[in-house]
Amino acid sequence: MQELNYWEPGNLLEAVSLLSNLGEKGRPLAGGTDLLVKMKQGPANWNGIVNLKGLTELKGIAFDGQTITIGALTRVSDMMADSWVGLHFPILVEAARSLGTPQIRNIATIGGNLCNASPAADVALVFLIYEARLHIMGPKGARKVPVQEFYTGPGQTVLEPGEILTAVEMDVPPLNSKGVFVKHGKRKSHEIALVNVAVLITPQPGTKLIARARIAVGAVASTQLRLREAEESLSQTVVTADVLERAAELAEAAVNPIDDVRSTAAYRRQMVRVLTKRALQKAWGGER
Ligand SMILES: Cc1cc2nc3c(=O)[nH]c(=O)nc-3n(C[C@H](O)[C@H](O)[C@H](O)COP(=O)(O)OP(=O)(O)OC[C@H]3O[C@@H](n4cnc5c(N)ncnc54)[C@H](O)[C@@H]3O)c2cc1C
Repeated sequence: MQELNYWEPGNLLEAVSLLSNLGEKGRPLAGGTDLLVKMKQGPANWNGIVNLKGLTELKGIAFDGQTITIGALTRVSDMMADSWVGLHFPILVEAARSLGTPQIRNIATIGGNLCNASPAADVALVFLIYEARLHIMGPKGARKVPVQEFYTGPGQTVLEPGEILTAVEMDVPPLNSKGVFVKHGKRKSHEIALVNVAVLITPQPGTKLIARARIAVGAVASTQLRLREAEESLSQTVVTADVLERAAELAEAAVNPIDDVRSTAAYRRQMVRVLTKRALQKAWGGER
């Protein structure tokens, strides 16, 4: 059994100071649904746990009419129940509904889903298409990082020792936007994604054109990806079956999955094309 040191700081600055002193040897603990699993897998190269549960300033959701700010310690189930999130960011709720079981969602936090940096994470994927900005506090002060610059590899982020994710901030997308989240796994529920896809389409009002499309995919590369080429192929385009097929082909070409115990790379690549097209079709919603 590995020896661990454990702290429960009462505020953010105390937590930053503890984690800074621990350096590479320390880990923040939020809900623990990823961290405790890792601890059970065997001795780690860290031995100091700083439990963030007392940091009330990292909990809760604020909305000013244009921008929503979700505290990093907000539980997945609390985010799902928030009426502003449901109204303006509905695919965040869809993705959250697919995360684990009600018991897990009642413990797991938004910040934990991001900081665990799993390429298959469900809620974190949707933050990519809402172009979230991440608030970080550390020994050198506060900074904001766009979510697309947050990941550096599987389980790796730009967080430096001592830094804590404090909140996630997003602007309300245009009101006529429509998003879709699709998760593909071996089972229908309680499953880690083999592939997950999130899309957001904004039509050009009064036309049959797409003004802007955003596409993000997970579990098919070392980090979650925004698929810029596929997105650009849809911009200012009249939607036809061929246009959606072309975007789906570009999506497939952009990913770099691996074979693992849950799927082959070839199957994942094929699923990216199928699910991207399906999600785009659903988001566009047929004839206009
Ligand atoms: C049975 C089960 C099913 C699951 N199903 C899914 C699923 O379907 N989809 C999915 O995406 N995930 C799933 N997960 C994974 C997990 O529940 C989520 O990733 C969850 O959001 C993690 O949040 P947490 O608060 O528990 O994080 P923790 O385990 O507390 O932390 C995760 C990592 O992030 C770091 N961290 C946490 N908060 C911060 C912070 N504020 N600042 C800096 N670092 C921080 C920790 O040090 C740790 O390295 C599942 C887990 C289990 C056990």
